[in-house]
Amino acid sequence: FNEVTTLFHEFGHALHGMLANSKYESLSGTSVFWDFVELPSQIFENWCYEKECLDLFAKHYETGEKIPEDLIERIKKASNYLQGYQTVRQISFGLLDMAYHSQDPSQIEDIFDFEKEVMKKTELLPSVPNTLMSTAFSHIFQGGYSSGYYSYKWAEVLDADAFELFQEKGVFDEETAKSFQKNILAAGGTEHPSILYKRFRGRDPQPDALMRRAGLVKKQ
Ligand SMILES: [Zn+2]
Repeated sequence: FNEVTTLFHEFGHALHGMLANSKYESLSGTSVFWDFVELPSQIFENWCYEKECLDLFAKHYETGEKIPEDLIERIKKASNYLQGYQTVRQISFGLLDMAYHSQDPSQIEDIFDFEKEVMKKTELLPSVPNTLMSTAFSHIFQGGYSSGYYSYKWAEVLDADAFELFQEKGVFDEETAKSFQKNILAAGGTEHPSILYKRFRGRDPQPDALMRRAGLVKKQ
């Protein structure tokens, strides 16, 4: 199943490039703000949980039988496994990253104390004595995510919120798909993401959809 979601994810990046319709390379396709680049890819992963989509290709290799409904339900349920912990953990990394990059480093005297203080807010399980996240946090010191680690979670906010529009209108609704193509995929970085997003969604992104998808709040 991971292979399927990965394929859909990467194909989203591919479509961002293939459907690009802008004059300048530097504003085209995936050349968007860092915290917007994973929307086109992550949103496509949502279709992997939709029967309508799975029925197109998820068939038994010998009998051609479509993937059974109860199996899809089990996949959906399993996707919420440890979501509470995962959510808090991702947020703690984002906060730690921001803490490092939003103050004068010469003022940080003790990495251990500094990290402990920042992580306190999100600490769920007792930390292992004499271990540190900071020294292993290659994403923000050598991986290009400096002051941008939050973008992982932010992209989830965007993709969950955007996908709810497809769920409302139909996962293969042509009008919604065309709007996503025009306002998000084709536009690239020609306008500010918040303007593009609003044009597609009709409003600013809201975190509620992600909370619902993660099973952290009840669906109405
Ligand atoms: Zn990606």
